[in-house]
Amino acid sequence: MKILVLNAGSSSQKSCLYQLSGETLPEQSPKPLWEANIDWSVANGRGVLKVKVQGATQETKLESDDRHQGMAQMLDTLTQGETPVLDQLSEIDIVGHRVVHGGQDYTQPTLVTPEVKEAIARLSTLAPAHNPANLEGIEAIEQVLGDIPQLVVFDTAFHSKIPLEAAVYPIPYEWFEKGIRRYGFHGISHQYCAERSAQILGKPLDSLKIITCHLGNGCSLAAIKDGVSIDTTMGFTPLEGLMMGNRSGSIDPAILIYWMREYDLDAAQLDEMLNKASGFKGVSGISADLRTIQEAIAQGNKRAQLALEIFIHRLRALIGAMLASLGGLDALVFTAGIGENNPEVRQKACEAFEFLGVKLDLEKNSSSPVNLDVASHDSTVPVLVVHTEEDWAIARQCWHQYRS
Ligand code: ADP
Repeated sequence: MKILVLNAGSSSQKSCLYQLSGETLPEQSPKPLWEANIDWSVANGRGVLKVKVQGATQETKLESDDRHQGMAQMLDTLTQGETPVLDQLSEIDIVGHRVVHGGQDYTQPTLVTPEVKEAIARLSTLAPAHNPANLEGIEAIEQVLGDIPQLVVFDTAFHSKIPLEAAVYPIPYEWFEKGIRRYGFHGISHQYCAERSAQILGKPLDSLKIITCHLGNGCSLAAIKDGVSIDTTMGFTPLEGLMMGNRSGSIDPAILIYWMREYDLDAAQLDEMLNKASGFKGVSGISADLRTIQEAIAQGNKRAQLALEIFIHRLRALIGAMLASLGGLDALVFTAGIGENNPEVRQKACEAFEFLGVKLDLEKNSSSPVNLDVASHDSTVPVLVVHTEEDWAIARQCWHQYRS
């Protein structure tokens, strides 16, 4: 069985092809037959396509800046060029898509229908950087592969059972009835990491209280009890909560009122300020990328240092909030670019909870751990570093769908 997974971001289109055989899903993710990534963020708007097959990567500049054409060119590399992996595209059995916002109505993986496409388009007002790109991916597949089954897996779905006291904002209630509530994001990653953590610990997921820290360019935490997300730091949009690469995370909402009144800033300017010009980038004035921030810190840059200190302060505070929602902890889990690769962030986050007996094995923590407990043997709580695999999580849902 061949499963194509599309994971579209605001400025990139990642894709991979899995081949699965046998009656059961493998416990570990198999290596994809083919991986492709279009980076649309290059200066002249024409994407750069990278295709990886059997460890070898080829890079091509796309012929146009048209996203549908770009995706068609990307899919062509499955059957043409130097390293084709299929005789024809019709060998693909099902396509899975990550869709960022599913709103209140879509809480399960769902097969694409005209109504589902309409809903993804409608929800674009809540996820303007992502949902339109997700829809483009679905339409590009329709153009190239006709009526092949397409499954959408929503990033909001895992958080759909968050209790009302955590989901409803303390604003006039009619706004909740109009859909303003905590949705939460990164759900595919949080769910996958919780399941993988239970596997690593050798314990049933439905007996565990877990905090998953997804720390990438976007950052969020989830409080997961018995396999269900009961609280999370992102909210109505992926702007709430932790400080991020170029997003502010939570700030006093009165700052917006002040900016509007005193500086005449409009919605577009506020959006740009909080979603693009804040976070590591805004505070440091250097970069949204923590690696660059740490290079600057090593050269004595004070604002870069402050940016990292704010990030850690807020990370600790919100881990504390998730801890309070759970009322206990069986595993603290770090994942995504920063969570998986930055020992300093893990160490500083955990130091705040030493009084509860959380203790890292510093050697293990700095040994590039993957799917490993990096807590010391006398820590009261395991601290896991888990490699998140959103594409594999989507492929698994496709497998279940196809076989049902
Ligand atoms: P995205 O949310 O776009 O998928 P990532 O999960 O790749 O982003 O996270 C990006 C962040 O992770 C950046 O701040 C970057 O510094 C950090 N990061 C990614 N890879 C590494 C690495 N190998 N070593 C250290 N930091 C990394």
